[in-house]
Amino acid sequence: AAPPLGHSVIPIVNKLQDIFSQLGSQSTIELPQVAVVGSQSSGKSSVLEALVGRDFLPRGNDICTRRPLVLQLVQMKKKGDGTDEEWGEFLHLPGKRFLDFNEIRKEIQAETEREAGGNKGVSDKQIRLKIFSPNVLDIALVDLPGLTKVPVGDQPSDIEARIRTMIMSYIKRQSCLILAVTPANADLANSDALQMAGIADPDGYRTIGVITKLDIMDRGTDARNFLLGKVVPLRLGYVGVVNRSQEDILMNRSIKEALVAEEKFFRSRPVYNDIAERCGVPQLAKKLNQILVQHIMTVLPGLKTRIGSALISVAKEHASYGEIIESKAGQGALVLNILSKYSDAFSSMIEGKHEEMSTS
Ligand code: GDP
Ligand code: MG
Repeated sequence: AAPPLGHSVIPIVNKLQDIFSQLGSQSTIELPQVAVVGSQSSGKSSVLEALVGRDFLPRGNDICTRRPLVLQLVQMKKKGDGTDEEWGEFLHLPGKRFLDFNEIRKEIQAETEREAGGNKGVSDKQIRLKIFSPNVLDIALVDLPGLTKVPVGDQPSDIEARIRTMIMSYIKRQSCLILAVTPANADLANSDALQMAGIADPDGYRTIGVITKLDIMDRGTDARNFLLGKVVPLRLGYVGVVNRSQEDILMNRSIKEALVAEEKFFRSRPVYNDIAERCGVPQLAKKLNQILVQHIMTVLPGLKTRIGSALISVAKEHASYGEIIESKAGQGALVLNILSKYSDAFSSMIEGKHEEMSTS
């Protein structure tokens, strides 16, 4: 099954890259990075994994993510004979293809220990992993260690400050989308994620609230007010999710099963029925996709200008040689025309008018 993240954006980005390459232009659409922030064990790694649709990250009810993991998704051309392969490759092990995603998880753990030791130590040295697949968008996701307050194991006494500095170095970048993860069984007003995101992105233009663990809230409580933004308002809003529990992990339940269980969870709880668009991993993916499309739209005019002026300078050069420039100019006009059409199509996509892009 295709992973949910980026699925509807892939055709648009591909089409644009095609147009650029036909023009011989190096211009590409650079998508923002997506980073997760939150306290330890809030469910950050679980959320990222669900978005990618593959099992490969260390998760658990202890400190698992101890180094930043930069996960670069790289789109491969489809082979068309049904033998599409997906594999991972680490920067520290160049040329070694990991076809088994469980082996990827083991290597992340091993590489974490090599740098940060075996006893809960944390390091800000990145692990860089590329996942090659025909079903992904070219985008980078960053899994970060969670915030903790009390040093354990080999952690230094200033562990909290160190992790804060590390997280901030990622989420302060204007091009970073922040998934601020808070478990539903804690109060949003105490959320480390929202506190840090609020410092990095005070206007809230790039912060999405993610509420995890809706399945293990106190009996008699629900997350409606959180999700509706009544407790801590967020410009881009919240999505509530149910990830796999520790028991599910021990029993090797797959992401697919987890998505089915999540859907059933929301369907069987009337309090969430009228806010279905704020519930579930697929909705989170949809929200991210909309933000990516919005991003593409905002960078498009700049790309148009760049291509336009490149064409003008080419035309000038040709003119100075007294050459005929008709074909180049015609080609340029065509491209600008296509890009304008895309801008319109993007607008209607954002407004939800149609899902599919016409490909002419
Ligand atoms: P991280 O430290 O923020 O990356 O959190 P993990 O993704 O490693 O998850 C921490 C623990 O919480 C794991 O045992 C997960 O199985 C569990 N967990 C995460 N999300 C949920 C959820 O929505 N529901 C339940 N019941 N458990 C969850
Ligand atoms: Mg983690």
